[in-house]
Amino acid sequence: MRRHAPRALAFLALLAAPLSAQRPTIAVGVRPYVSVDTPVVALTHARLIDGTGAPARVDQTVIIRDGTIAALGDARSVIVPAGAQVIDLTGKSVIPGLVMVHEHLFYPTGPGVYANLAESFTRLYLAGGVTSMRTGGNMNGFGDFGIKRDIDAGRKPGPWLDATAPYLEGPGLGLDQVHELTGADDARRMVNFWGDAGATSFKTYMHISRAELGAAIEEAHKRGFKVTGHLCSVTYREAAALGIDDLEHGFFAATDFVADKKPDECPGQGAGQTALAAVDPNGEAVRSLITELVRRHVALTSTLTIFETFVPGRPLPPGLDILEPQLRAQFEQRHAAVAKSASSPYIALYAKAAAMELAFARAGGLLLVGTDPTGGGGVIPGYSNQRALELLVESGFTPLEAIRIGTLNGATFLGRADRVGSIALGKQADLVVVAGNPSARIGDVRNVQLVFKEGVGYDPAKLIDSVRGKVGLF
Ligand SMILES: [Zn+2]
Repeated sequence: MRRHAPRALAFLALLAAPLSAQRPTIAVGVRPYVSVDTPVVALTHARLIDGTGAPARVDQTVIIRDGTIAALGDARSVIVPAGAQVIDLTGKSVIPGLVMVHEHLFYPTGPGVYANLAESFTRLYLAGGVTSMRTGGNMNGFGDFGIKRDIDAGRKPGPWLDATAPYLEGPGLGLDQVHELTGADDARRMVNFWGDAGATSFKTYMHISRAELGAAIEEAHKRGFKVTGHLCSVTYREAAALGIDDLEHGFFAATDFVADKKPDECPGQGAGQTALAAVDPNGEAVRSLITELVRRHVALTSTLTIFETFVPGRPLPPGLDILEPQLRAQFEQRHAAVAKSASSPYIALYAKAAAMELAFARAGGLLLVGTDPTGGGGVIPGYSNQRALELLVESGFTPLEAIRIGTLNGATFLGRADRVGSIALGKQADLVVVAGNPSARIGDVRNVQLVFKEGVGYDPAKLIDSVRGKVGLF
């Protein structure tokens, strides 16, 4: 690209570009969900929240051409090209497509069973404004890579996927869907096997040993892949020293504060959380761990949406009506039971862990966000991504910071910030149109009206209607 070309020349070059240069082909199966499919689109008179954390700008126009942001600026000064489809966004806001990093294409449907819901989940994520996401662990084997290929080819609607391999986990979990590593060589073998199969990301789990984790990181890094972990047997400090790229669930999974922690042994998630509940969030132990993670450039993924379902007194999560009725009833019963556990340790733990995530970000750490639709259910793709931003604001972030965490921070971690994650000239047109002003009221991110991915506008209502009452079946 000629970065220093004079403005006029750059403009001519844009005009001369072939009309379908970067736009994906849209297959018959995707068309019912598409409401805007013209090469040149002008979004006029919008409030623009660009994802960098900069203040919102009012009365802005964005020109999308062939899937790319070709112009943006004050509505008075940006010229709308002849033939453009003009969409007047007076009273509405445009934010970048969400980039969420602890998502899943499976859901707990029964005791110890995680069903492959890739078809419905990818539609719900897109409907909720998620245009890029990393899956934070895979229970579907080859299924995640298959749907990624279908989405990339325009055969199915959905976000761009950084698809993880099946979990890298040692013995101890006892889930029949999860392979148990037999040592460091096995970890290397798995990274290469799944890397060849289409995985671009790796999630390590609670019972992995330091040797296996170190081997997996080394092998993944050789191929340019990143490794994250929901850890327990390995402490955050140990994982950081081994070169892990990201840690899941904020500090909820840290066993660093367990007094008699034995190397390579998971003392149980409960022991880690009991220790966390007793720690002083402003004390030296926490400060020192945060400093170490920031120094080693280890990102941290906030997943408050899943922990919220364990806390009594919280509202029913949004989006339950899209579940298949039996699954919906199952979750509502669970929510009612949680509501009665007034002495739940999660009340204090949640507040403390949320405060520590804020402290990590304030210390210069790269905080990411995801939703984790697992646990006992109730974390609904799309809806929960919007809820996740609300919970960051509840934790003490400003709405603009929360939006940045859910957009540019995710893109930065994924190495894609040059293309997505913020609204800027030349970037991919991944944009979400919402009614209202989420820079003042973060809850307005729930009012998604249109989702652009690579310049193609999807209708969230149509995507949701296609799965309503059936989520759990496919
Ligand atoms: Zn997860």
